[in-house]
This record gives sequence, structure tokens and C-alpha cells, in this order.
Amino acid sequence: MAGTNVLVVGGGNAGISLAARLLRDGFTEVTVVAPQPVHRYKPLLNYVAAGEASMAELERPMAEVVPDGCTWIRDAVEAVDPDARTVRTRGGRTLRWSTLVLCPGLVEDWDATPGLQQAYAEGWAASSYVPGSTPLVWPAIRSVRSGSAVFTVPPEPASCGPTALKPLLMACDHWQRAGVLGDVRVSLVLPEATATRIPEADRYLEEVLAGYGVEVLREARIERVDGDLRSITVGSPGGRRVLEDITFAHAVPHYRAPRWIADSGLAADEAPGLVDVDPETMQHRRHDQVWGLGDAADLATRPSGGALRKQVHALSTNIAAAEKGRSMQRYNGYTVMPITVSRRKLMLDEVDRDNRAQPSVPFLDPFVPRRWQWLFDRYGLPQVYWRRILRGRV
Ligand SMILES: Cc1cc2nc3c(=O)[nH]c(=O)nc-3n(C[C@H](O)[C@H](O)[C@H](O)COP(=O)(O)OP(=O)(O)OC[C@H]3O[C@@H](n4cnc5c(N)ncnc54)[C@H](O)[C@@H]3O)c2cc1C
Repeated sequence: MAGTNVLVVGGGNAGISLAARLLRDGFTEVTVVAPQPVHRYKPLLNYVAAGEASMAELERPMAEVVPDGCTWIRDAVEAVDPDARTVRTRGGRTLRWSTLVLCPGLVEDWDATPGLQQAYAEGWAASSYVPGSTPLVWPAIRSVRSGSAVFTVPPEPASCGPTALKPLLMACDHWQRAGVLGDVRVSLVLPEATATRIPEADRYLEEVLAGYGVEVLREARIERVDGDLRSITVGSPGGRRVLEDITFAHAVPHYRAPRWIADSGLAADEAPGLVDVDPETMQHRRHDQVWGLGDAADLATRPSGGALRKQVHALSTNIAAAEKGRSMQRYNGYTVMPITVSRRKLMLDEVDRDNRAQPSVPFLDPFVPRRWQWLFDRYGLPQVYWRRILRGRV
């Protein structure tokens, strides 16, 4: 679409695949603003944490993934003026746009959990969610042969939160094979009553967790971490509990949207401060030329890379439709929560906004763990990601 200047804020899964898709759909002026020199395929982080992949497999230089024909500005946006149709960047630039797409992802909210960042620095906490610490997870799990291990699923908003169960279940599988599972006290801190809110998936997961002897703390959050005592204080409606003498904690920080979104008047609330869009069209509720997608947008579904496959297609169509006064496509909240239930089996958990099954392969029950699904998630999807998803071909 000649004449439409689309500015995309964020160069993650959302920003790069949308930019590529827009160019395929005939947009000619597409710019991505993103600060980081490296692009990561984040789902593989969980496999690094389980000793099944290396960091090198999931990282590519940004310059390699920015699509041909797209301008990349290596900078970070720090304010948006939706009326003047400009953004201001940390590097002092003022950039003009006729259409703005916000997809800067989520940021760690370390302040929400005092002591957790220190535990990462001390090395007894690490997780797949904090890439600098991810390579430490598997060696830590292998070194645990007794004592206490704590795993957490982050509360919403979080990036595909239930997949934080992958490192837990793969660690339990490892300890069982090593014959030490009975000597390791394993606790799981769940932010909700169940792991996924999907009854079919939860039924299976409960059985697996019970089989490994995992103690589950429900509707619970980490409130404080104490390095001297190696303890984690967990709060839940039932009261407080202090987990003590922890050998290793796969404790995921809490998340929120970057603050400049709310400060620019583009969020519905101060916290978590997600971009305030119509969850079906992804158009901002008050500014027609502003759109949001990915982890930072309030799409009333659990964010995931799989969800982006549908979001990117609908959003590119809707930007063109809005210009031409045509009706828009509606995104049904499709998302996916691939969970490895043992070393080589994975359930896909593909659902819509109302937790109804939405299998990508027709008639395939997405709540049944299968070996080929594990192989596809580990080896097939990364190839599809680099070759097709990031190139706007899905
Ligand atoms: C450990 C882990 C495992 C996961 N596993 C799966 C899985 O198995 N299956 C699945 O479907 N999904 C999974 N996900 C979720 C999936 O990776 C995310 O949903 C997806 O990456 C979100 O893409 P995004 O572009 O919205 O955000 P991000 O990938 O976070 O990208 C945001 C981008 O915006 C940039 N940015 C930030 N601030 C600014 C700024 N101020 N100005 C400009 N740019 C900025 C960042 O540098 C980054 O490039 C997982 C996520 C994690 C963390």
C-alpha cells in the first residue's frame, strides 16, 4: 500500500513476522524500531533449560532476520504522541508514522519479587525466561541429587506462562531416570488453581505431577526471596508458606508491559499496562491508526508465538481494510501452550479465547501428548519459524 508509512515498534516474533507479512501484502514503507542486536526463538529456551538445545541454535543476528525492503532503526521507543503521530526514541530521534503497531513484548518486573534478582546473581535461581541465566539451568538440575527444588509458573501477563512447566517435568523425568527423584523435594508454585485452565489438559497434568510426587501450591505467588536463608515466601488465599533450604529454584520473574505505553495514554491501566486494543481486531480502542499485537497487547488470551501466526495475518489484513473502509478480520484468541510431559512427549494445548479446542491438524485432539509432537516442537518448528513465520509466509 503505497503512501502508508507503517512503524512497527519491536523486533521480536511479532514485529519481524508482521513486517514481512505487510511487505508481502503490498505495503512499501515499513520500518521496525528495535534495540537488540540479536533475535531469539524463545520456545527453544525451555529446551536449553532441559539440556536438549544450545543457545546458539535459538539466536540469529537481527540484521539477518529483518526482511528485505524493511528499514531497521536500532533504537528503543520511549514515548508515543498518538495525536501528533510521532514516537520519540531513547537515541533522541522523533519518528513520524501514519500507522503505528506496538509489539515491544513484556518486561521483567523484578520489583514485584524482592530478593529474586539477587538469587539469580547468587546463582541458586535461574530460568528459561531470563536468557542470561538459561544455560545455568540444566547443569543446576543435573547437580541436584537431593534437597529441595522449587519451580514456578509466572502469573499473567506472561509469555506463554504454562510452558514454564516444561523445565519442571523434564527435570523430574531426569531425576527419575537417575534414581534420585525420591530424594528431591519438588514444589511447584502455580498462580491459578490449575496449570492451564483447560480441563482436558489439567486432568492429564495433575496425574503426571502426582506421579512425580510434586507438591503443588495453588493460587500462589512468590512474595519474597531470601538469599541468606535460601528461602522463598509464597502467598496464597490459604496464607503464607516459607519454602526453606532450597537447593535450586527455577523461579520465573513477574512481568508487565513497558511503562511508556501507559505513560503515552495507550494502556487501559497503569499495571500491567498492556496496549488497550479491541482483542478481535487488534485496533487501539481510542486511536484508529494505532494497533497492538503479541505479548504486550491486551488480547484477552494467553500470549504465545503460536498465537502470533493468526494475529499477524489478521492484523496485516485489518490495517489495509481500515484504510479502504472494508470489514475487518476477527481474531478468535487462538493460542497454544506446548507442554513436555516427559522426556519425549508433548501436548499442544491449542485453544481459542474460551478454551475450546482449536487443533491446527483437523480432528487431532490437541490435549493428547504424542512423541511426534515433541519432535516437531523441538526440531520442526524452529525451522518453520526461521524459514516461514519470520518471512511472513504463515
Ligand atoms: C521461555 C519461553 C518459552 C516459550 N515457549 C513458547 C512455546 O513453546 N510456544 C509458543 O507458541 N510460545 C512460546 N513462548 C512465547 C513466545 O516466545 C512469545 O509469545 C513471543 O516471542 C512474543 O513475541 P513479541 O514479539 O510479542 O515479544 P518479544 O519476543 O518479547 O519481542 C519484543 C521485541 O520488542 C523489542 N523492544 C522492547 N522494548 C522496545 C522499545 N522500547 N522500543 C523498540 N523495541 C522494543 C525487544 O527488544 C524485542 O525485540 C515462550 C516464551 C518464553 C519466554
